[in-house]
Amino acid sequence: MSYNSIRVRFAPSPTGPLHMGGVRTALYNYLFAKKNNGTFIIRVEDTDQTRFVPGAQEYVMEALDWCGIMPTEGPGIGGEFGPYIQSERKDIYRPYAEQLVNEDKAYYAFDSAEELEIMREQAKLMGMPNWQYNSVTRSSLKNSLTLPQTEVERLLAEGTQYVIRMKMPRNRDIRFHDLIRGWVVVNTNNLDDKVLFKSDGMPTYHLANIVDDYLMRISHVIRGEEWLPSAPLHVLLYEAFGWDAPEFAHLPLLLRPDGNGKLSKRDGDRLGFPVFPIDWTTAEGELYSGYREKGYFKDAFINMLALLGWNPGTTQEIFALDELVEAFSLERVSKAGAKFDPDKTKWFQQHYLRAHSDFELAELLFKHTDGSHSAEKLEVVCHLMKERATFVQDMLVDGAYLLTRPTQFDTETIKKKWKNETFTLMKEWLEELKLVENFKAAEIEETFKLFLAKKEIGIGSVLLPFRLCVTGVGAGPGMFDIAAFLGKDEVVERIQLGLKVIDSIVNEA
Ligand code: GLU
Repeated sequence: MSYNSIRVRFAPSPTGPLHMGGVRTALYNYLFAKKNNGTFIIRVEDTDQTRFVPGAQEYVMEALDWCGIMPTEGPGIGGEFGPYIQSERKDIYRPYAEQLVNEDKAYYAFDSAEELEIMREQAKLMGMPNWQYNSVTRSSLKNSLTLPQTEVERLLAEGTQYVIRMKMPRNRDIRFHDLIRGWVVVNTNNLDDKVLFKSDGMPTYHLANIVDDYLMRISHVIRGEEWLPSAPLHVLLYEAFGWDAPEFAHLPLLLRPDGNGKLSKRDGDRLGFPVFPIDWTTAEGELYSGYREKGYFKDAFINMLALLGWNPGTTQEIFALDELVEAFSLERVSKAGAKFDPDKTKWFQQHYLRAHSDFELAELLFKHTDGSHSAEKLEVVCHLMKERATFVQDMLVDGAYLLTRPTQFDTETIKKKWKNETFTLMKEWLEELKLVENFKAAEIEETFKLFLAKKEIGIGSVLLPFRLCVTGVGAGPGMFDIAAFLGKDEVVERIQLGLKVIDSIVNEA
């Protein structure tokens, strides 16, 4: 296979919003395609009309667009192998299903849902809870294998409802190679006669998936581990049609932070982190929060996702998208489930926040303000706050005192740290400050040091009180930088006001 014939697809079903595990699947497909000069395709698998959720397809496209991993063929994009939405390809599938029936590899089954339910119930009563339509039970059911040919023709002519089922061979080992898992062997006795074509005239996922992967010349099927149990059937279908199967790569599951089970869509908001790329509101008005709206940079999200199940084989952790393309290989995807780590995700976010210039951050921060602060001012806020922030908007909250006078004071710290003599010291320091002519950080610091030396006191006895008066809180960026930014008049006034407030806190009851 030459390199430019690498074609991979991400095949979401529009049954709801795309979970971050789905985005990872899309990402690995994207990385694999780009790395190998191949083509990344999106195909919407909407043959199960009962599970169709309006807006889900648009959500997938918006999420991939936000992540910067758009396909080059797909719905709304075009390409030689379209349409890329299975419901628009409806007429393609029936002849393939009928071909299998004609070749005795599949059959018509006329059993009604009620009849099958009765079979299941009876089996349960006889101690067989997992009744299946399979190579054993099919011989006593209502299908084209058991009914006389004339009866089958009559039922079909009368328009009786039917499905087409795969005629699973008995006791055969299906072997296939998975690029991540190695050889996989499954005996057909463990597989049922899956429905390939439904009574509503639509193919099932299995048939449509195989036919489309074939027609769209997919070279590699890269998808979640939950599809591994379907792979033997898919391998058999390729064989039944006489087509070469693509390569398979089943990606490891994403696990909860404690490693206990699969990361589900409900976990996120319950455990305090998003599991969706972007916000999703259900028809009932329930909101599932997304990384984008929480304020994550897409680069942080992508970087984190890339390392959930893949490693570069080095200690490098920070990767831009083009570096991921360069480094990615399916061989380095692990078999074991990948534990999602919300703290690590924040770590990536902090990294990308700091990697932005003050100017860029100020532009982003501006969108979170009422527009009353100048760009220059916001740039300084970003400069001072970015080392301590995780999200852009944090800087407005944690650094609110840079833009407006504090209205709240950290009572706990004040009660713990403020001593009686602190009032006098602060008043003396205030007088010294007033005399600083060039009110710049270095000059203020110089004056401060001289003051400490003169009073023969340690740094803590005035720096923290100084900070508390000016900012209301006990920690933050360099205090001399803050003072220089605010300017002498403002600092002087804040100290005077702060001392009054602190006096009432210290002397209360
Ligand atoms: N439509 C399947 C899904 O919803 C795709 C599985 C596959 O990639 O074959 O995930």
